[in-house]
Amino acid sequence: MLLAEQRRLLCEYGHRAATTGLVVGTAGNLSVRAGDLVAVTPSGVSLDRLEPEACPVVDIEGHLVEGDLRPSSETPMHLAVYTATGAGAVVHTHSVFGTVVATTMTELPPIHYNVLLLGGTVRVAEYATYGTPELAASVRDALKDRRAALLANHGGVTIGNDLDGAFEATRLLEWLCEVYVRARSVGEPRVLTEEQLAAVVRRAFDPPTFPRRPGRPLRED
Ligand SMILES: [Zn+2]
Repeated sequence: MLLAEQRRLLCEYGHRAATTGLVVGTAGNLSVRAGDLVAVTPSGVSLDRLEPEACPVVDIEGHLVEGDLRPSSETPMHLAVYTATGAGAVVHTHSVFGTVVATTMTELPPIHYNVLLLGGTVRVAEYATYGTPELAASVRDALKDRRAALLANHGGVTIGNDLDGAFEATRLLEWLCEVYVRARSVGEPRVLTEEQLAAVVRRAFDPPTFPRRPGRPLRED
């Protein structure tokens, strides 16, 4: 079986996406790249029931290489993202809070500094019908210099060097969107300024230091 390990990982993270509530049924798809091949979740199969053999393998141009089932209808979007970003994995979901923000906003404002882990303010890609080249192009543009994008009236997409990175980016995106939506229900959220965000970046490159206390070894052995 081609890409056996990658297809096993697709199932592992597909199950996690389902059990954590990020994906309900078939409302999401994942892929992972190895060279010019991509293993992707199939169309019409609930992610909580996914088996490795059911995951098709396509090449980067979209030819089916192995598998009996039809690749996810969002495969053109995944392939466009790989071509534009060099990512190793892509996760797309219709997660609740991500979709709420994608349905009401043109971007997710930086209200928490952890948005920097996704590259900064998350853009909302212009609406286009699912599975179309227009949506693929719109998402590709929204992901420029970012690890996440929202898709207007649709959901979210994240990338990573591997499936774990892309999956964690999806969890972070959903958390940020949830914080934003809940904050809006209390009041008008304060948005971090460019200077505050720049200070976070400087701090990350210059973390606090903890010099060893003199005269006493940390371990007796
Ligand atoms: Zn979708």
